[in-house]
Amino acid sequence: MHPIIEQELSLRGELLRPGSDGYDEARSLWNGLVDKRPALIARCAGAGDVAQGVRFAREHDLVLAVRGGGHNIAGKSLCDGGLVLDLSRMNRVQVDPARRRARVEGGARLGDVDRETQAFGLATTLGIASDTGVAGLTLGGGYGWLAGRHGMACDNLVAAELVTADGELLTASEDEHPDLLWGLRGGGGNFGVVTALEFRLHLVGPVVLGGMLVHRATRDALRRFDEWARWCPDEVSAAGLLASAPDGTPALAVVACHCGRVDDGERVLAPLRAFAEPLLDDVAPRTYVEMQRITDASWPRGRLYYWKSSLVRELDDGAIEALLEHAARKPTPESVIYLQQLHGAATRVAAEETAFPHRYDHFNCGAMLNAQDPADVDAGVRWSRTAWEAMQPFAQRGNYVNDLGEEGELRVREAYGSSFERLRALKRRYDPDNVFRLNQNVAPDA
Ligand SMILES: Cc1cc2nc3c(=O)[nH]c(=O)nc-3n(C[C@H](O)[C@H](O)[C@H](O)COP(=O)(O)OP(=O)(O)OC[C@H]3O[C@@H](n4cnc5c(N)ncnc54)[C@H](O)[C@@H]3O)c2cc1C
Repeated sequence: MHPIIEQELSLRGELLRPGSDGYDEARSLWNGLVDKRPALIARCAGAGDVAQGVRFAREHDLVLAVRGGGHNIAGKSLCDGGLVLDLSRMNRVQVDPARRRARVEGGARLGDVDRETQAFGLATTLGIASDTGVAGLTLGGGYGWLAGRHGMACDNLVAAELVTADGELLTASEDEHPDLLWGLRGGGGNFGVVTALEFRLHLVGPVVLGGMLVHRATRDALRRFDEWARWCPDEVSAAGLLASAPDGTPALAVVACHCGRVDDGERVLAPLRAFAEPLLDDVAPRTYVEMQRITDASWPRGRLYYWKSSLVRELDDGAIEALLEHAARKPTPESVIYLQQLHGAATRVAAEETAFPHRYDHFNCGAMLNAQDPADVDAGVRWSRTAWEAMQPFAQRGNYVNDLGEEGELRVREAYGSSFERLRALKRRYDPDNVFRLNQNVAPDA
């Protein structure tokens, strides 16, 4: 881009271009498979920078990407050429303990919110990797350890401030633009750049009962896990990981968090311990902040990742066979098949109440390649897709929008499900020119 044109974008934050110090770091994402070279990266310092950036991109007909935590598997928070609005510097979190509310800037990570809210004995549902961006996670829905008890992240979103396609700053809440608030609760980044989110908070911790319980990966172990997931109370949420024990033994690692009384939690988790001698039992009282970081080391930034996922209501015999067969063929020891549970309060919300439509008990199930050697990638991607195919007879026609890669229009429609047409009407109203299209896109036209 010509330097004279660039001068029109005068930011309070920082503008990076190829060759600038920090450019390569700013264009690296969690998924090391993504390699894109934006013409400009605007490290925004506030909503004013964001508004300028949106107007600048429109005036110069530049493709526009929005980066929160940079965690999305699809890598849509970067672009080749074009302008990236990078919100990573906008990470302030302000807690109002009396009202039990938190105002969170659009580039904050989950760990920022957990630490700040827990200082007041409060928390809200967020995901299980502390490095994930709060905005990206919440706009798509937000599964997490507190979802059974307190609903998804998007269910706790009470207001948002966003810069729209024409560079205006709007508030979406129950009183102002309530249709937009509905769309932001599951409709992804389709409607604007969210500069701040306001969450409802709950009394949580500081100590919860949680951790990892590892069994041999057997039919019985998966059946018991599935049965347990169907009756367990709201206070607990879990994820099953078909993984490898350190000695290579195929293992089912159940990671669970019980956010109620610790002695109640011991009773709830006991059946998961009782059916066989665990290979590892790391379930213990720990701080909620520690619980929120428990999987961080498993999926570090910069490795080569791929997954394809679907929603599975229960693990019947056929599903269990398919899971075990593909778990036995993992391309690297670090690769896993994940089963993230959604139940309880999160599934008692009516499907039309928010844009996240999949309100029934299920596991979000995907086969995740985790590789360091590029030579493992092709076979790993094939493995993930084959595992996904094998699970289709047991899966819903729906998927989690935040887990989508570049998978085509049908998969995007299935992700938004029954919300799709309403989201499209909203898109026509707030972004008729599809300025915000680097996302799981709801195109305004048919
Ligand atoms: C290791 C790992 C663990 C995960 N665990 C969970 C989990 O427990 N629960 C769960 O629900 N999901 C989980 N996810 C998925 C996660 O929700 C998505 O990857 C999400 O998109 C991450 O958001 P981000 O802001 O970090 O992503 P980014 O890559 O920065 O952004 C992704 C997209 O979100 C939109 N976006 C981001 N910020 C903004 C903003 N401020 N305004 C407007 N649009 C914005 C844009 O469209 C952007 O393209 C996990 C992902 C990983 C990699």
